[in-house]
Amino acid sequence: NVKSSLIVVSNRLPFVLKQDDQGGMIRQASAGGLVTAVAPVVIKGKGLWVGWPGLHLPSDFSDTQIPESDPTDQTPTAGLKSDQVVTVNCDPDLFEMYYNGCCNGTHWPLFHSMPGRAIFSADHWRAYVAVNKLFAEKTIEALERCYKNSTNKGIPIVWVHDYHLMLCANYIREMAEEKDLKFHLAFFLHIPFPPWDIFRLFPWSDEILQGMLACDMVGFHIRDYCLNFVDCCQRNLGCRVDRKNLLVEHGGRSVRVRPLPIGIPFDRFVELAKGAKKIIKTKQKVILGVDRLDYTKGLVNRLKAFELFLERHPEYIGLVNFLQISVPSRTDVTEYQQLKEEMDQLVGRINGRFSTAIWSPIRYIFGCVGQSELAAYYRDAAVAMVTPLRDGMNLVAKEFVACQINEPPGVLIVSPFAGAGETMHEALLCNPYELGAAADVIYRALTMPEDERSLRMSRLRRREMDTDVNHWMRSFMKAMGSGVEEDDIGS
Ligand code: UDP
Repeated sequence: NVKSSLIVVSNRLPFVLKQDDQGGMIRQASAGGLVTAVAPVVIKGKGLWVGWPGLHLPSDFSDTQIPESDPTDQTPTAGLKSDQVVTVNCDPDLFEMYYNGCCNGTHWPLFHSMPGRAIFSADHWRAYVAVNKLFAEKTIEALERCYKNSTNKGIPIVWVHDYHLMLCANYIREMAEEKDLKFHLAFFLHIPFPPWDIFRLFPWSDEILQGMLACDMVGFHIRDYCLNFVDCCQRNLGCRVDRKNLLVEHGGRSVRVRPLPIGIPFDRFVELAKGAKKIIKTKQKVILGVDRLDYTKGLVNRLKAFELFLERHPEYIGLVNFLQISVPSRTDVTEYQQLKEEMDQLVGRINGRFSTAIWSPIRYIFGCVGQSELAAYYRDAAVAMVTPLRDGMNLVAKEFVACQINEPPGVLIVSPFAGAGETMHEALLCNPYELGAAADVIYRALTMPEDERSLRMSRLRRREMDTDVNHWMRSFMKAMGSGVEEDDIGS
């Protein structure tokens, strides 16, 4: 009883295509929470997914060449038929300027309120415009396919995702009007939306707002990002706005702006934690950090805070370990290479300073860990430190509490500058910019009485269970005003 088809538009498809040894194509599924929640709705509603397949395909590639999923594939995208996928194929140089240039070189730092790291380049911007148009053309193709194939009576919902595609909705609307196609249009931003005095630094900020305002509904993780967006619409474009009801008037339409904090597949993490083999076997308490190696994550500050903690509390030498998992990310970008160097040196220096013959303070994994192994770390850590300088939401904080099934549980430390810090009220808050206070929070977490730990953790877990990623999907559909019956989305 899915009433409307859902067409998802995201930079990447929910699986990547890979060339196999025989010159054929295989699918490699991704297992993120977004895909877990969204793919079943696309599948059930006979919708489509528009995106880049993770490699540059030959120019004569046709979507009919996309393989069906492997019969052994258990991931949520397995049911997505190849005719439900529309690939966006793009010139490699253009894609590089769009992706590493504009998306990751400009929008990522700027939207995380780090304008000093942003590069402003007209060439990158032109590439961004061109690629967004390409995605829009492909979305129109998807819409036409959807009308032809679907027996559903409802109007399709086109849902555009994230900072890669902030102009796309506007082009979709323009192109669809010429063809008289009817649909609902929504956008969700997975990163923060910055305050006006940061946003306005971007030379083409008006165009971005117009791109997003082409939608019927624009979603962000938290209310603060919604208010920043509403503020920018008023101050940049002179739109009439309603802050209380989060509405923006634009082009004769009223655009709804909604906080929709994303959740995780809570039950799946509980199951992983129940089944995971023990990896942490030391007697020492483990403080855990899990992040992509990104300058927004506050990794340098975190290790320095831990160093200060050891300096102030030498009684903990030999009794505590900091385990930092850093996932390689955007390794072809200079800034990320420099961060890696800095981290390597810092870990070496702190370990050199405090290590004894039988103990060293920091264990540093530079690599990606599978989710069941991750669940074992989450379950057995005494403390998790999630202290980004800025982060749209941060799923690690949520996954940690889901996996805290041991009694008595551990303690979550979270930065107020992450979306998660805004909603996970029972965590200990830590401002990563103030090293002294951060060192004190580490001490407080390690010495927190068991009953306080239990109380805080049970409330944190309850909230994440109630507002998991399926709840997020339902909230989105509700915010769209129609479309899918509640029981079509996982329970
Ligand atoms: N993750 C993973 N393996 C690792 C480290 C992280 O699969 O070794 C996953 C983690 O489970 C989480 C995601 O990567 O779902 C990170 O999401 P988050 O929102 O915390 O940060 P992002 O990387 O999106 O900025």
